[in-house]
Amino acid sequence: MMQEDRKGLSEQEYDVLIIGGGITGAGAARDAAMRGLKTLMVDMNDLAFGTSSRSSKLVHGGLRYLEHAEFALVFESVSERRILMKIAPHLVRAQGFLFPVFSDSRRSLLEINIGMWLYDGLSLFRSPKMHKSLSKKKLKKQEPSLRQEDLKGAPQYYDCATDDARLTLESALDAVAHGATVATYVKVLGFVKNEQNRIAGVRVLDRFTGEEKEIRARAVVNATGPWSDRLRGLKGEEIKKRLRPTKGIHIVVPTEKLSLNNAIVCFHPEDGRVLFAIPWGDRTYIGTTDTDYQSDPGDVAASGEDVRYLINVSNHYFPTAHLEEGDVISTWAGVRPWVADENSDDESAVSREHVLKIESDGLITSAGGKLTTYRKMGAEVVDKAIEYLRAIDRLPGNIRNANTAQEALPGAIGWPENGLADIMHQIQTDAGEVLKSDTIQLLAETYGVRGKDVGEMAKRDASLQERLNPERPEIMAQVKYAVEKELAKTIRDVLIRRTQVFFRETEQGLNCLDRVAEEMAALLNWDEAKKQEEIEAYKEEVERSRRWRDE
Ligand code: FAD
Repeated sequence: MMQEDRKGLSEQEYDVLIIGGGITGAGAARDAAMRGLKTLMVDMNDLAFGTSSRSSKLVHGGLRYLEHAEFALVFESVSERRILMKIAPHLVRAQGFLFPVFSDSRRSLLEINIGMWLYDGLSLFRSPKMHKSLSKKKLKKQEPSLRQEDLKGAPQYYDCATDDARLTLESALDAVAHGATVATYVKVLGFVKNEQNRIAGVRVLDRFTGEEKEIRARAVVNATGPWSDRLRGLKGEEIKKRLRPTKGIHIVVPTEKLSLNNAIVCFHPEDGRVLFAIPWGDRTYIGTTDTDYQSDPGDVAASGEDVRYLINVSNHYFPTAHLEEGDVISTWAGVRPWVADENSDDESAVSREHVLKIESDGLITSAGGKLTTYRKMGAEVVDKAIEYLRAIDRLPGNIRNANTAQEALPGAIGWPENGLADIMHQIQTDAGEVLKSDTIQLLAETYGVRGKDVGEMAKRDASLQERLNPERPEIMAQVKYAVEKELAKTIRDVLIRRTQVFFRETEQGLNCLDRVAEEMAALLNWDEAKKQEEIEAYKEEVERSRRWRDE
């Protein structure tokens, strides 16, 4: 399988060039490749470097949109949730949610239960599981750390949890499997126009070699999320900004401090905003904030104020946890690429749905939306690209339908009857003598069916069986697999987005940094200077996520 061919990028003309390898770009690339379009996707960083690895990691219908009677939006989201559970069952898994109601809650238990019926109804009663109502007594048993004072009860409903970075990655890998080319660390610097003043390609910088070149393409898609106005600005003309970006952060704490069986939906006691506390294996994360953000999306970080806001709300709902700043293992911050609502008089109003625009020079911009609806957004982007190619008379003749709702993502191809249990059994049978059960579980849950390949890799080479941290399940084989099969190019790609060591490990991966660097240097032919540069870049990323500690 050709994964990447960055050298040959200038040698051909692509039907569709997608700029941005987040979930929007990856969904469009997968769809375009399946339709038989000659597709290239480039990202100036790693896949899912931006918002797509910094979300709340939920594939959800958006229960709260019911409050505003946005039924179509909820219906679309729950329908997509069902599709994603089918095509990526290892990455999109049912998660129980509790919606605790207190005597001073804005909505009564009855009102919320009615909302739950509506939510299940909009999913055509095919939610991962149907909702039910838990009494205060049952609630205490399921969630002993939840505040008991004034608690009346809680409906329990189901949505899905995901790994946003890997959902993006697997969509991109599937695009490649269908013939697309994906090149990371290739930055678009500007646009190339033809004599009709239409965009006919882009000028890029290969961030590894420093080389600049032109890439030709018939249709160009701007899928750069929170960078999309910046990218439009590269056209060298005055643009009307469309984004209303805001920052959202999450904090990660150990389960020894806050352990949950369900995700908890809560409202901030002062400003009424909705927040989630979400169980995450050996960790719990809490989010999110919503503050204006105008700076570089690549430099976004949690502030001390953000972290304290989340700690305060946690201590309100989980008073026995006594969370303190010192309990926060890691943070992540992302920028919402919301687009201004052109139908509203309110300047700060944003569209809840993604916005797809085509400009007179042909640039197609898709921004906003949610991770949850990425597959459908991808199809709409490609429909628009095809419409444009037809209008300029450059549509190739062999266009097919894309089967994105039926074909499994790579980790779910050949999904066994009993799902993860069967996969774990297979890894155990193949590599059980060299891998412990926590690693086997991690490999199955992270890679799905492909977990067997990682297990076999470890079985063949004892050095790859080593744990990154003796107390954690991640192993060195994951580093090699990330480089050889998952387009990882830097230590940050591996420890932040291919594994979640950066967020889950108490030292954020600094303990295993030298060993990982050594392995990657051997795999990618880094000299000593390049290796040191990569180590420093990783340390900088850790520093960025800890900046709030000094505020
Ligand atoms: P991004 O993921 O930001 O991708 C843009 C990419 O473009 C980046 O990788 C960047 O490197 C690249 N790029 C930029 N400029 C250039 C250039 N010049 N050349 C090449 N590449 C370039 N949605 C849900 O469904 N569920 C959730 O639980 C959820 N939670 C969220 C929580 C928060 C805090 C936030 C902020 C968002 C959340 N969302 C959620 C929304 C969702 O995460 C985003 O809508 C989605 O990730 C946006 O993806 P994107 O691909 O459009 O942008």
